[in-house]
Amino acid sequence: SIPTNYYYTDLNEIKRRYKPISKFSHKGTQGHVLLIGGCFGKIGAMVLASQAALRSGCGLATVFIPKCGYEIMQTATPEAMVIADENNYKITDINFAIQPKAIGIGMGIGQENETKEAFYHFLKNNLTPLVVDADALNILSEHPEWLELVPKNSILTPHPRELERLIGTWKDDFEKIEKTRQLAQKYQFVILIKGAYTLIIEGKNVYVNSSGNQALATGGSGDVLSGMITSFRAQGYSAVDAAFLGVYFHGRTADIAMNDMGYEGFIASDIIKYLGKVFLELK
Ligand code: AMP
Ligand code: MG
Repeated sequence: SIPTNYYYTDLNEIKRRYKPISKFSHKGTQGHVLLIGGCFGKIGAMVLASQAALRSGCGLATVFIPKCGYEIMQTATPEAMVIADENNYKITDINFAIQPKAIGIGMGIGQENETKEAFYHFLKNNLTPLVVDADALNILSEHPEWLELVPKNSILTPHPRELERLIGTWKDDFEKIEKTRQLAQKYQFVILIKGAYTLIIEGKNVYVNSSGNQALATGGSGDVLSGMITSFRAQGYSAVDAAFLGVYFHGRTADIAMNDMGYEGFIASDIIKYLGKVFLELK
């Protein structure tokens, strides 16, 4: 099989890839993010993702959610613009009149049949780079032929169960990485293998993340990560750089927060709270 190259993500590598925001930037040049997801009972995933996107530096964030989330979102994240699906409880028709630079899809989106259909029609018409997460990944596992419709240089962010649905079971980590690498290469995706020491797989390269700890094993943690990565993608970073910065910064918030609290006390919204401290370290 093709040789695989391993790299380690550390602060020096992050500093090399990170581009500070220009003095002359404005919200129109900083990147417009669109996040699509949420269903009745899971609007919180979209609240977290939208706040994470904004706190990672994008200029504008729009969320596409079912109607039941409209007031929740406008109240919890006043900085975000909201487009509501006609359906109250779930997404049934993804249509919007904006031109985002990157789209994150799947956080809390659920797996209703109408949502699956809406996702398919969205994929058929979409050319914008995607970050595909959560139930959007599960839907793709159910319809692997739809992977052809996901633009090249999109990013897939499965946790172990979602990865297993995508690539099948593995007998050891080498097989897991090899199967993921083959999928990433076939479609020219960047694929994460999330967990302790998250791996970023791109072509023949495997990047091993060095930041983070078990405080991140908490509900909503992955939704925050997807918002962050979509934000970096919208700001003009390549797929691999957006994944690289997102995964490292996500983990780093938990490392810094452990000066103030223990693992148990940390929840997903704390990732968002500590993001500003991580950016300070890049100076
Ligand atoms: P999700 O399961 O989609 O909510 O994603 C969980 C996020 O938390 C991923 O970014 C994981 O890499 C991270 N995470 C979960 N458990 C750990 C752990 N024990 N150490 C470091 N990161 C973790
Ligand atoms: Mg998740």
